[in-house]
Amino acid sequence: MTKNILILPGDGIGQEVSTSMKEVLHYLIEEQSLDFKITERNVGGSSYDEFGTPLTEEALKIAKDSDAILFGAVGGPQWDNLEWDNRPEQALLALRKSLSLFANLRPAFLFNELASASPLKNNIIENLDILIVRELTGGIYFGEPRGIVENESPKYGFNTMIYNEDEIRRIAKVAFEAAMNRNRKLCSVEKANVLEVSKFWRSIITEMGSEYPEVELSHQLADNTAMQLVLNPNQYDVIVSGNLFGDILSDIAATLSGSIGMLPSASLNSSSQGMYEPCHGSAPDIAGKGVANPIAMIASLAMAFEYSLDRIDIAKRIESAIKIFISNGLRTKDIATSEEFVQTQDVAPALINILKDGHE
Ligand code: NAD
Repeated sequence: MTKNILILPGDGIGQEVSTSMKEVLHYLIEEQSLDFKITERNVGGSSYDEFGTPLTEEALKIAKDSDAILFGAVGGPQWDNLEWDNRPEQALLALRKSLSLFANLRPAFLFNELASASPLKNNIIENLDILIVRELTGGIYFGEPRGIVENESPKYGFNTMIYNEDEIRRIAKVAFEAAMNRNRKLCSVEKANVLEVSKFWRSIITEMGSEYPEVELSHQLADNTAMQLVLNPNQYDVIVSGNLFGDILSDIAATLSGSIGMLPSASLNSSSQGMYEPCHGSAPDIAGKGVANPIAMIASLAMAFEYSLDRIDIAKRIESAIKIFISNGLRTKDIATSEEFVQTQDVAPALINILKDGHE
């Protein structure tokens, strides 16, 4: 059956890294005779400039009908002063909400050759390979009631942290299943010592643990996890957390691996439809200079093959091509240790050569 893929390159380096990703995708489509229908649309600031909105109804409809959406990055100073509804980031939020992309998967890994790019000492960071599963459509970011009350003294602001049983179960299922495909360790992170919602979260996760007896389940308080990620990150395999704590912990984990230009992400719904994007933004400071690292975007394509396109074999090939690229000493500017580095446009051809070698 034909798989539908929507490419939304976006703004700044989103365009450049998407071009590299498309080269790899088109090579694989041809090599494997894949039955894919590819559509591309503007999103973010570039969509606003053309259509007066960061996400057109048409693009949203195509997204809803797609198996995988490959999203570059959006934003830039020229759109910073737009009213809230027209800001580039609104496109991301609208896509996540309309497609119910509740599970955000963010791997954090380190190629040992790049250990010097990490802020941590080599002996702490070597062999880092963690997956953070963050709940993305619930919790305090969406809970009601919320607001700012100005007509009382003192004035106040408030939000509601709320998770129902179904929301916890569906994210837990994603995390337990990811752990089953990895090293079978799952750490659930919350603040059960002070928050009722966390106590409830812990009870549901514990209950679900009995369905996955092969997974070693642990529970940790979020402040401790923040510390442990820096002190001993290799104790983790998969971490599952709610929206707020997951947001903070996944950024800490991303920093450990040195360059944000290397890290992909996936946001999935319950029908395995997914949006795949690099963890970085549109990097206006380097846009157009040919120095953006497209590996996060190409690794996001690998995640799309694994989670939405039913071709884990191709996902593994892309990931091992990236490993070989790094062990061959090839470096974009962000991860280079000398003055020599490869330009953005040289990365995809080098990866395709590695893929071809492995295929012969
Ligand atoms: P950023 O991730 O764009 O850049 C942070 C730093 O990392 C910059 O120095 C940048 O040059 C560098 N960097 C990022 N990606 C890189 C890559 N692939 N290769 C080499 N270096 C890379 O974050 P920012 O500067 O805080 O935000 C810039 C714009 O991006 C803002 O408009 C922001 O709103 C937007 N943004 C978008 C997303 C998204 O689309 N998902 C995410 C974060 C930020």
